[in-house]
Amino acid sequence: MERVDIAVIGSGPAGVSAAITAKLRGKSLLLFGSKELSDKIGKAHKIQNYPGLPDATGQELRGAFQRHLEAMGITVTEARVNAVYAMGDYFAVQTAGETYEATTVVLATGVVQGKALPGEEEYLGRGVSYCATCDAPLYRGKAVAVIGSSPAAEPEAAYMAEVAGSVLYLPLYEGTPDLPDTVQVVREKPAAVVGEATVTALRTDAGEYPVDGVFLLRDAMAPTQLVPGLEGAGGHVAVNAKMQTNLPGCFACGDAVGLPYQYVKAAGEGNVAALSAVEYLAARKRNEKE
Ligand code: FAD
Repeated sequence: MERVDIAVIGSGPAGVSAAITAKLRGKSLLLFGSKELSDKIGKAHKIQNYPGLPDATGQELRGAFQRHLEAMGITVTEARVNAVYAMGDYFAVQTAGETYEATTVVLATGVVQGKALPGEEEYLGRGVSYCATCDAPLYRGKAVAVIGSSPAAEPEAAYMAEVAGSVLYLPLYEGTPDLPDTVQVVREKPAAVVGEATVTALRTDAGEYPVDGVFLLRDAMAPTQLVPGLEGAGGHVAVNAKMQTNLPGCFACGDAVGLPYQYVKAAGEGNVAALSAVEYLAARKRNEKE
């Protein structure tokens, strides 16, 4: 697969703005997220501080963003990014089905809502994982539980079923999951990850299931979990005024980098992040020539 200049991860106002700027600057790009862009856009009843769109509803802002992307020929790659690895001179961007390559990355993933499950942080890397595609081989023949926040988690649970000895699937949404018969769907509320040296069980509001691994597949995960080696600051990604992170070629913007959580701030930072990525690409090209 061809390497792109910029991979934008997240399709909220920050990611949309970064993608538009990248395209305007003639860069090849991938925009990962959803065609609906961001749940949070739709939720606002009335937005009074977005310049040029007085009293727009969230739905109207979403429509305006979608039309802008379409007019510029930018398509959204509908996939959850599970991991981003810094490979030296490029980044490997991993989804459930594919690994993409990009010279730079703009993280625009928003903020993760909700509290961690009791035991989740304690057993992270010792039975708790956020990426079935990455860690499934570690659970060959073993018992695992997969907690899915949305249907986007189903392909990963199905893949898990090909590798693990048994798979329990706990959907945190309505509707019938589209999964192989070998996956046992359990409609219970996850309560805690239980373990000793490593995970031994998943506790729910109705009982306890002995498992070796618990996969938490949320629609958004903290960028510091997404990108190994990325520096955080108070629950956000640490960036400077140019939206540069501690990893060369990796930029971040929007709610992911801190308060205030506002559309216009997210869009502005998306623009800065993309321009910094463009600057980084130009510097790389100059260095290659020297
Ligand atoms: P988000 O909008 O959260 O977008 C991030 C996107 O990235 C999401 O679609 C997410 O699914 C996707 N994503 C995350 N991780 C991955 C991954 N690994 N792979 C692929 N995609 C991923 N702000 C205002 O300025 N004015 C208002 O009136 C206002 N009202 C609000 C009302 C409500 C009810 C809420 C919840 C928020 C409101 N906000 C308002 C805040 C505003 O919604 C946020 O500040 C803004 O959406 C942040 O944009 P963002 O692009 O940083 O992140």
